[in-house]
Amino acid sequence: MAYTRRPESAGRVRRTRNLAVKAAFCPFCVGKVKIDYKDVSMLSHYISGQGKIGSRRRTKACAKHQRRLAEAIKRARFLAMLPFTPSHIWKTGSLGVHRSEI
Ligand SMILES: [Zn+2]
Repeated sequence: MAYTRRPESAGRVRRTRNLAVKAAFCPFCVGKVKIDYKDVSMLSHYISGQGKIGSRRRTKACAKHQRRLAEAIKRARFLAMLPFTPSHIWKTGSLGVHRSEI
């Protein structure tokens, strides 16, 4: 072996994640939620207070559904149903949740 292992006291102790944690399930695969760009109240759950699209870690979506979710949010943004920036939130007063009730 070319590499020698440094003693534990030499460097920072690297803590690994507990791999026994239960696997995150994709809510879209399970079928509880359908992705639709017109469903603003659903999409607003997956954007942050700053209007950013939530990460996979936050949304718990699989890669396939994260792509579809991001696409739907971008489409809704283009149609002015969701905000691009916080300044849009201030102008509309919300994330567009109330407008979807109409
Ligand atoms: Zn999925």
